[in-house]
Amino acid sequence: MSSPSTVPPRRPVIGGNWKMNTDRAAAEALAAGVARTTADLPATVDTIIFPPFVYLAAVRAVLDAAPAKGGGSPVALGAQDCYHAEKGAFTGEVSCAMLRDVGCSWVLTGHSERRHILHEGDDLVDMKTVAALTAGLGVVLCVGEKLEQRQTGQTDTVNERQVRQALRHVRPEHLLRLVIAYEPVWAIGTGRTATPDDAQSAHAHIRAVFADLFGHDAANALRIQYGGSVTAANAADLLAMPDVDGALVGGASLKEGEFAAILRAAANSKAPRA
Ligand code: PEP
Repeated sequence: MSSPSTVPPRRPVIGGNWKMNTDRAAAEALAAGVARTTADLPATVDTIIFPPFVYLAAVRAVLDAAPAKGGGSPVALGAQDCYHAEKGAFTGEVSCAMLRDVGCSWVLTGHSERRHILHEGDDLVDMKTVAALTAGLGVVLCVGEKLEQRQTGQTDTVNERQVRQALRHVRPEHLLRLVIAYEPVWAIGTGRTATPDDAQSAHAHIRAVFADLFGHDAANALRIQYGGSVTAANAADLLAMPDVDGALVGGASLKEGEFAAILRAAANSKAPRA
């Protein structure tokens, strides 16, 4: 293992997953609000918003027009999904090159709503993750157990399987563009949140699996978000845990003031860690 100085510090990363919500005007207004918030924050937090596909271009234009004031980092644009093929007869699908063309730098893969409502399996998540990283996108890979799996003690087993399956073809040089989001399925959109200790325990296990796959330096650099009913009220306690490097936020990201408070909690949470 090399010295700690070779490991980049972990900046908190906050994502807003808007899912199938907003219309164009609401998406533009929300994006402008996020840009205003980040402009007033220190540049210690990475912020990504994930609007619906059809509003990506409109949101890109809003972000590009946002006044560059203060010390905040620019808000990055991400898509909620991608397809792994480069082009062709895949009606309804969107390629990674198309996402880059419209100004995205990130994409979600393996979100539980795609795994469990759209029946995406580990193989498809693997292909999408590799395709996105190879195309130059950053990837937020989502993993997490269902309620009955937690109740039967399978949390770490499920997370480990999903991480190993999704990353089995990923090249080490792409790892710095990868974020993992631990999102227990029972906590998504339910108002039930994992306790900080439960989140910490799952994150530590995911980091250990990652270390086994890619080595300790890569694992120390990996950012792991918690997702599942994160709000302004619980964000600080979750972000205070040593292996919680950010949050993936659904419902609360649709409320400008609530998301702003989560971003402020991330900025105040801790110095970047290695
Ligand atoms: C999500 O969509 O990834 C999510 C965590 O949603 P919510 O914050 O609403 O639980």
